[in-house]
Amino acid sequence: MLVLHRGQALALSGSNGDHDGFGPRVAPVAHPVLDLRPTASLPALVTEELAQGGVRLYLGRSLDGDDGVAAGAPLFAISVTDAAAAALESPTSSWLNLRMVAADLDDAAAGFFTEALATFNWHATHTHCPRCGAATTVESGGWVRRCPVQDIELFPRTDPAVIVGIVDAADRLLLGSNALWENNRFSLLAGFVEPGESLEAAAVREVAEESGVVIDDPEYVGSQPWPFPASLMVGFMARVSAEHPPVLRPDGDEILELRWFTREQIADPASGVLLPGSASIARAIIERWFGGPLPEPMPAEARA
Ligand SMILES: [Zn+2]
Repeated sequence: MLVLHRGQALALSGSNGDHDGFGPRVAPVAHPVLDLRPTASLPALVTEELAQGGVRLYLGRSLDGDDGVAAGAPLFAISVTDAAAAALESPTSSWLNLRMVAADLDDAAAGFFTEALATFNWHATHTHCPRCGAATTVESGGWVRRCPVQDIELFPRTDPAVIVGIVDAADRLLLGSNALWENNRFSLLAGFVEPGESLEAAAVREVAEESGVVIDDPEYVGSQPWPFPASLMVGFMARVSAEHPPVLRPDGDEILELRWFTREQIADPASGVLLPGSASIARAIIERWFGGPLPEPMPAEARA
């Protein structure tokens, strides 16, 4: 049983990372291991919460004994209250934040943590029918909610967002600094897809809105679930339109600063520029353009 609490997963003690998935990694992170509890060993408080309508989400069967689950055994996830979380804690347990550990978990664990987090985020906000307001019930192993009044099924939602690596005629990469971020943190431009848009149209619009740059023919490069709370990041590469010489115009609202980076500039550890964390598709797209892994920036104290 994978146990979530406030979006964090129960893990074995000492396996939490000390970086947030975005910032510089200042110390080695131990390989984190989820603490999957046998159902029979769950405290009474947890069993009671489940009996009183808590969602028990079916995640499928373990293929090869992942993280202590016997091969072929069904794996479930639950999300518990503060009181039940306290009852589950022991000297050998801790709570993992997916953003901190996604790159360090093994693939299976990262997959079912992501799946469970996205699905419980949906459950948390869909306890009632969006059409008539009736309380909904859970079906199909936690993958469907039903409105008993209208007898309709409600399915988990995913909100697509586009993220774009933009390259100019000199093969420099455009990065922006978001108003919500600390100084000197840069990443790719990104935004939600609006109703009625294709992914490509969303990429062209978002880039124009946030930077004033016109791009041609964005090309799909890959995607990543981003369950904070319910996104799917869809990655593109694009070139600046030859007919529209780029004039950088940060929108001043979301994006405060825009900069073209050469490969030398982006790889310079003394620049102090903070790039997206290694678990993010933003980092993957930047490294795809760069041609290989980028070094983590030096912590400020090491630069001084
Ligand atoms: Zn309804």
